[in-house]
Order: sequence, then structure tokens, then C-alpha cells
Amino acid sequence: MGIVVQKYGGTSVASTDRIRNVARRIVATAEKGHPVVVVVSAMGHTTDQLMGQALEISPVPRARELDMLLSAGERISMSLLSMAIIDMGREAISLTGSQAGIVTDTTHTKARIVDVRARRILEALDAGKIVIVAGFQGVSTISNDVTTLGRGGSDTTAVALAAALGAEVCEIYTDVDGVYTADPRVVPDARKLHVATYEEMLEMAACGARVLMLRSVEYARNYKVVLHVRSSFNNEQGTFVKEGDERMEKALISGVVHDTSEAMIRIRRVPDRPGIAAKVFGSLAAEAINVDMIVQNVSEDGRTDQTFTLPRADLPRSEEALGRIAAEIGAEGWTAEPEIGKVSLVGAGMRSHPGVAAKMFQTLAQAGINIEMISTSSIRISVVVQAAEVERAVRLIHAAFELPQGAILREAHGQMPEISSSELEGV
Ligand code: ASP
Ligand code: MG
Repeated sequence: MGIVVQKYGGTSVASTDRIRNVARRIVATAEKGHPVVVVVSAMGHTTDQLMGQALEISPVPRARELDMLLSAGERISMSLLSMAIIDMGREAISLTGSQAGIVTDTTHTKARIVDVRARRILEALDAGKIVIVAGFQGVSTISNDVTTLGRGGSDTTAVALAAALGAEVCEIYTDVDGVYTADPRVVPDARKLHVATYEEMLEMAACGARVLMLRSVEYARNYKVVLHVRSSFNNEQGTFVKEGDERMEKALISGVVHDTSEAMIRIRRVPDRPGIAAKVFGSLAAEAINVDMIVQNVSEDGRTDQTFTLPRADLPRSEEALGRIAAEIGAEGWTAEPEIGKVSLVGAGMRSHPGVAAKMFQTLAQAGINIEMISTSSIRISVVVQAAEVERAVRLIHAAFELPQGAILREAHGQMPEISSSELEGV
């Protein structure tokens, strides 16, 4: 039987009772005959608490030491979980990221996995053991230091192990039932997706869906690892994330995602000549400020506005750079609008269906919601609106595209896809 990799998030192992509950699920999977490798996150808010302690000691903790500290959270959950399994009468062994062969580059606090040396895991599996691996961490073989993979990084550990072990499936256990067509806290009739393609999931993760770490989806796509996102609190089937194929029923739209963590910056009346954008965004990149949507207007009298979004948390430390950049390029000034949010419509079906953007904008127009910025990819349309309008916008767009009913595109062989519902009529 195929190897199964299971990843349990922080809420699933938040208490010793929950750890015992997780141990029971793992033992049940092993009992079916599967070799099982488990990746755990730190218990509950452990990582936040450790981070808080670090900041009490030092305003800017040394990154190497921070990784030593943060990696401790997963060591606690992995050893407790292993003990619980052993107590149920099965053999288990816990391994740190380093012991499990997770080799990363040297970038502390956001390291990337460069190799997985799974020998020790395979030996333990051969000996009939359930293997518990600490998520979110690895080791650099260049510096010999422990590294962490960035917040939410246990997802990536799980996918990397599943790829290296050729696992049948990588199950991501969390506190929600799967990936929904919208955040169920905002849209009560949001529907669970049975399946999403890697590219849809990548767009959703990048636009604010928090179920999976973006990097883990990239990794899964690169190595074709089938993901199953599901709840550790019930036995329901969750959402599969995998490559699309012709037999898959395709939804025109797979979801409406929102993100209220960004702020909008406008640099006003920038001289319109070659090299200016390179200078603006080059300077921001040099300060490690991650810019998201960028819009430049058509110029008038040789000047134009440049508008973009960045993480709101980065706004305070961007202000100095923005002032300097605006002065250097001879812009008229800059403004920040922190109270904005981004609403994105994602769906592979929009590639072959005109009118999706029009319908989305019309829906917002009818509700009197002003669009501040627009950006698109071939399967995504994102708009920036006032923060106070985000939830209403999500609900309206979700309803307009009939997501609660699950409008499906049926692609007959060799024919252009048709929409089964009254979708897009008159648009
Ligand atoms: N414990 C880490 C975090 O809270 C990693 C993870 O949960 O995936 O970000
Ligand atoms: Mg997580």
C-alpha cells in the first residue's frame, strides 16, 4: 500500500486531548496497512508566543537565534504525538526537520527546501514505525544551522516529504473542512470545493485564502503531489488539489477570495520617462518591501500616477523610502490609503469565457461599490475597494456567479465548453 503523508496544523494539536485524537486517526490509517509519515505544526499559538518572547528580549532578534527558538514549538508537538501513538500500542518515532533530512538554503526565517534526504524516514518505515516529523524546519548543510521555512511552513514540509517519498496522497488536516468558494464566515452559503487545480489553488492562496501556504502549493504543482485538504475534527472528504484533466467537471469560477492585509500607495505625477518605474520598484525591493498590484496610468503632460499595494504591516517602514523615492524622481508627492481590501475572483473557466470581468464589475456597480484598482491574470480578476465594502462585495459577487449552486461547465469532447446554468446571460 502507498505511503500516506498527513499534516496536522496547530489547532488540531492545540491540547493534549487533541493530540490524542490525532494519534487515533494516525493509528487508524496505519491499521489499514499504509506506511504513515506525519508532519506536525506547533501546538495552538506556540509560535506566536515564542515570537512574542523573542521580541520582549530584543527588538530585532538575530535570525539564526529566532530559528533555534521557533523550531522548538514543533519539537514539543512531535514528541507528545509520538508518545501518544506509542501508548496506543504502535511503534512511532519523532524526528526534527534536520533528522528527517530536510535540507534548506541558509536564509533564516524563510528558508527554501533544496533537498530531502529521506533515508532515515524510509528505514523507520521499513521497521514498521509511524514517523512523526517536526514541520516548518530544516537544516542548512552549508552553515550547519537550523532554519525555518516561514509562517505556515509545515504545509511545505509535508508536500516536500510526500514528493520525496512518492506518497499516494498528502493529507493536510486543518480546522476547516476544505477549500471553500469563499470564506464561510463572510458568506454563510459558501460551498466546499471537491477539487481545485494547482493553478486555481495557487491564485487563491496568493490572493488571501489562508488554508494552504502559497509555497506548498507551488511545490505540490512542481512535483505533482496530490493534496487533500480536510478537517481533523470529522471524517468528511475535503478538497483535493491536483492537476486538471479532461474528465474533471470544471467550474467557471472556483472561488471569491478576499484580503484586507494590504494598503494602497499612490505616487503622484511621476515624470513619464524610461527607468522611472525601475527606480521606484527597485528601491522598494532593496528595502525588502513586497509590492503586489501595480497600475500606471496613461500619462498627461509628461506625467503619470503610479499606484500599487503592499502589506499594510510594511507601511510604517516604507514611509521613509517612499518620501525619498518621490523626491529623487521628481514626483509631486505620495499618499497612502490603508483602509482598502482586495477581492479576487478565481476560476480556470474564465480563460475561455468572455464576460466574466464585465459581470463582476457590473455587480459592484449596481451595489454602488467603487473600484479603486483592477488587475488580472488569465484565470483571476482582482479589484481593490474600500475596506468597509469588502465583505459586501464578496457576498454579492459570490451570489452573482451562482457559486452556492455550483454552476458547472460541462466540457463535451472536442466542443467548446458550455455553461449549464443561465450564467452570463446578457453580459
Ligand atoms: N508553527 C508554524 C507557524 O505557526 C508553522 C506552521 O504552523 O505551519 O507558522
Ligand atoms: Mg498552518
